[in-house]
Amino acid sequence: MKIDLHSHTKCSDGELSPEELVLRASNKGVDVLAITDHDTVSALEPARDAIHKHKLPLKLVAGVEISTRWHGFEIHVVGLNIDDKQPELVALLTQQQNTRDKRAEKIAAKLARVLPESYGFTAEIIMQKVLEKAQGQSISRVHFAKTLLEAGIVDRMQQAFDKYLGRKGKAYAAPEWISVEQAIAAIQAAGGHAVLAHPTRYDLKNKWVRKLVDYFAEHKGDAIEVGLPRQNNNELIQLATYAQQAKLKSSQGSDFHRVSSYTELGSLLPLPEFCEPIWTDWNMVNPA
Ligand code: AMP
Ligand code: MN
Ligand code: MN
Ligand code: MN
Repeated sequence: MKIDLHSHTKCSDGELSPEELVLRASNKGVDVLAITDHDTVSALEPARDAIHKHKLPLKLVAGVEISTRWHGFEIHVVGLNIDDKQPELVALLTQQQNTRDKRAEKIAAKLARVLPESYGFTAEIIMQKVLEKAQGQSISRVHFAKTLLEAGIVDRMQQAFDKYLGRKGKAYAAPEWISVEQAIAAIQAAGGHAVLAHPTRYDLKNKWVRKLVDYFAEHKGDAIEVGLPRQNNNELIQLATYAQQAKLKSSQGSDFHRVSSYTELGSLLPLPEFCEPIWTDWNMVNPA
């Protein structure tokens, strides 16, 4: 069974519509797919409709990827099997969207200050371009990165993060995300499981990754992501061992954002035998 519990659509920083995403997942032989957009659940309803319309043999897991703050780092907490209509969760995600909007204004102002005047990029012009890209959905730093790329200010997306948008970049704006424990509590109150996303992909030293995993376990998190995209066996075993030591379950996901040669829906190494997968007691029957 092919299980992918981390993916994105246009509703945040992904490139496919919810319908295109579920069609592609099905095409790639995925049986169970979680859509986990950044701080929004707006892809879930159209994805359900598309599964129904095309009669896809795909089980959709209602998910979200919540941005949090921990010791000055931006840590992502994935919620799986949530009730995406639960009023408290919906209110919290609205608050996170407001945080995104405020942060976007700050990033635009900082960029306008640090970019050479010859580009003519005032804060207003930058915001206009970013809003066009976000199309009324969740505003992401990816939209800023694409704006910089299109203007020829950077050559690659990664360069946009390294030079301007990342934690050490010239236009970084520290957002007021909620705490890790608030995210865990909100996900669980909405009937879901809280999963620490990609623990080894935050630019944290090993010692800090372990601290983060322990912190997540202490605050009643359910699982950590063990199966990640573009992963070698060492990283897989390392994460599986962290999960085992902290008595947390294991999750896996491609973190698919766009069609590329780097990641594909459902394309993951199998979890080691000693892991306890988060989905063992889920009802995997496809309702469509
Ligand atoms: P945001 O959620 O608006 O803070 O944007 C973060 C998103 O940018 C991540 O979810 C990734 O999809 C994307 N991204 C790409 N490269 C980087 C990078 N070097 N650092 C952080 N985020 C990156
Ligand atoms: Mn993303
Ligand atoms: Mn993430
Ligand atoms: Mn993600």
